[in-house]
Amino acid sequence: MAKTKTTFFCQNCGAQSPKWLGKCPSCGEWNTFVEEIVQKEESGRGTWKQATSKEKRATAPRRLKEINFEEQPRLVTHDMELDRVLGGGIVPGSLVLIGGEPGIGKSTLMLQIALMLNQTKVLYVSGEESESQIKMRAERMPLDSDNCFVLSETNTQTIFQQIEQLNPDILVIDSIQTLHSKHVESAAGSVSQVRECTAELMKFAKETGTPVFLVGHITKDGAIAGPKVLEHMVDTVLQFEGDRHLSYRILRTSKNRFGSTHELGIYEMRTEGLRPVANPSEILLTQREELLNGVAIGAMMEGNRPLLIEIQSLVSPATYGTPQRSSTGHDAKRLNMLLAVLEKRGGMRLGQQDVFLNVAGGLRVDDPALDLAVCASLISSYEDTPVPADLCFAGEVGLGGEVRAVHRIENRIAEAEKLGFKRIMVSKYAVKGLDVNKYKIKVIQVSKLEEMYQGLFT
Ligand SMILES: [Zn+2]
Repeated sequence: MAKTKTTFFCQNCGAQSPKWLGKCPSCGEWNTFVEEIVQKEESGRGTWKQATSKEKRATAPRRLKEINFEEQPRLVTHDMELDRVLGGGIVPGSLVLIGGEPGIGKSTLMLQIALMLNQTKVLYVSGEESESQIKMRAERMPLDSDNCFVLSETNTQTIFQQIEQLNPDILVIDSIQTLHSKHVESAAGSVSQVRECTAELMKFAKETGTPVFLVGHITKDGAIAGPKVLEHMVDTVLQFEGDRHLSYRILRTSKNRFGSTHELGIYEMRTEGLRPVANPSEILLTQREELLNGVAIGAMMEGNRPLLIEIQSLVSPATYGTPQRSSTGHDAKRLNMLLAVLEKRGGMRLGQQDVFLNVAGGLRVDDPALDLAVCASLISSYEDTPVPADLCFAGEVGLGGEVRAVHRIENRIAEAEKLGFKRIMVSKYAVKGLDVNKYKIKVIQVSKLEEMYQGLFT
């Protein structure tokens, strides 16, 4: 029997230390080090042993131009939102992590995709639910597949044995925190266990070219180890977010070795599963009968997709001491900057006002093109006058109160037109060389905040 070896792991970021530390030197969190037993076998560390390797790996260096590169075709899932966030489908041999809070719908999404790919053999391994529980969930979905296999198992060695027999085209692990490998002694869900299991699955994915999806739970306080450590190991990280009380879910790419990280997928949670929302602007804009003060619509870009989004603000005299500044879904520093610009260049007296800003739909936005909509919404609330319903905005605001050009203005204008807006206010520098008369929507060109203000309530 080998001597028991233990190491201390930071449960937040996965940093290792031979002795206990009060403060993690790597992430700065206090009291996160936990002792874990790491007892590794002398030989046979790799549990995925593929005797016949499909391609002989060259061990000697080769000239770059002598290397033949054939791009393997991606597997298209028929779920447009997922395909988009993955950068155009599933890449063979990729390791994809889907992280999110418990109960947000990660398992539902993965099961639904497994059923949707009815021409592809999918093995869905669950350490969370029994086979009959998964069946019950699948029954609610209007999908059917002969190629979806379910395994309720948590031991990686057993899982690999089953894989060798079944030979699936896609592997789904729900969730990585429930797995344990016999090569590490510590409990399932601990940093060393999660790391070991992921390493084994990565080896499997790379050697066989099988895509692997890992579901990973994140708690609000980050107490469960895993996703942060995992993020460095996997190829793609997708975040599944949304308010559990709202029916909309957002799938966001936060890391992708095979595509852009700015993509966004939107789903609606229904009893029969998650429905991809093809036209998100329609759900992000509140349908309402009467005009409200402090509401303005901005045209933003998320990745390659234009979205129209509602910015709401409330400006009211501060009752207690220091005025409050609060923003939900929008950068607070950016809001403060815009408030300063409005105060200095627009002559608005905001110093004694509470300001609350909210991005509707629970979205987090960082596109500077929303500046103009934010300013319009603040002015509207300050003046107690609603912004006309047929008007929307796309422009960045500079420190001098100038309205600056934003990229891909054509897409934004086209989206606004598609959604029935009659007028869009943009920077006059953005439409240089663009024939604005070809649009049905009226393109109002402004260069300064004053010009925006003049045209705001007309
Ligand atoms: Zn740490």
